Amino acid sequence: AQETLRKPKWIRVSRAGSAEFGATRQILKDNALSTVCEEAACPNRGECWSQRHATMMIMGDTCTRGCSFCNVATGRPDALDAFEPGRVAQAVAKLGLRHVVITSVDRDDLADGGAAHFAQTIRAVRHQNPATTIEVLVPDFLHKGTAWQQVVEAGPDVFNHNLECVPRLYPSVRPGARYYQSLRLLDEAKCHRPEIFTKSGLMVGLGETLEELRQVMDDMRVAGVDFITVGQYLQPTPQHHKIDRFLTPDEFQRIADMAHGKGFLAVSATPMTRSSFHAGDDFARLQAS
Ligand code: SF4
Ligand code: SF4
Repeated sequence: AQETLRKPKWIRVSRAGSAEFGATRQILKDNALSTVCEEAACPNRGECWSQRHATMMIMGDTCTRGCSFCNVATGRPDALDAFEPGRVAQAVAKLGLRHVVITSVDRDDLADGGAAHFAQTIRAVRHQNPATTIEVLVPDFLHKGTAWQQVVEAGPDVFNHNLECVPRLYPSVRPGARYYQSLRLLDEAKCHRPEIFTKSGLMVGLGETLEELRQVMDDMRVAGVDFITVGQYLQPTPQHHKIDRFLTPDEFQRIADMAHGKGFLAVSATPMTRSSFHAGDDFARLQAS
């Protein structure tokens, strides 16, 4: 039963409280920015924010979807804030980020799914921070035609969209999404601008098999995905999707080996891996090689 599923010792919440952590929080607050670090109750916040690494979440803190693993509030979002791109750019400068990850809630209510706002944010960050590499973690733009092209054409360094889980589990984990739509988005983004790195991530411990993971990795590689992240799913509250099990560090190592074997350029597969965890480190390593 769920009640007896104890967190193993390798699942740890990093500690908050350093001076840098406080400075990060203040800069985000001064610029009235939401972060997925807070909204998703990410266990790595102590570590990331102490290194001034935060993942900005644009277009509000209310999502039109209700994925069963996600802690972000579902509902009717507010209108877009035209000043937000400038504030993100300002926060990136204040934080002194070499690499920034920008994500958003899903905006099914907007005709373009928020693609133009994403593009504006990329341009604003680039303009004010020409040396910072930009990674966007985008929604699936389901039923939004080719709106996603605006995001790609704004020229991020990394275009990230998470498949999140194996296709069999979509109805219970991502009920508003379609596996092949997400895969197609990654494929089309790569074809549209081959020079932009593409990236995708999975949560494990939701009930998937290793064979299913292997298949998803093959699908990603066929779609030209360059980077992969795989992390342990943690249930944010008892109302969220149940954890099937905790994978051991050895199992994560096997998954990482499998991913390397399939030719991904960058692989992060550990229990605490999140889509944006040490994203800049991977990228810097790649640029240096
Ligand atoms: Fe934020 Fe990502 Fe770090 Fe979590 S892993 S605290 S979401 S930057
Ligand atoms: Fe959370 Fe993204 Fe799903 Fe919205 S679309 S509920 S932000 S995972």
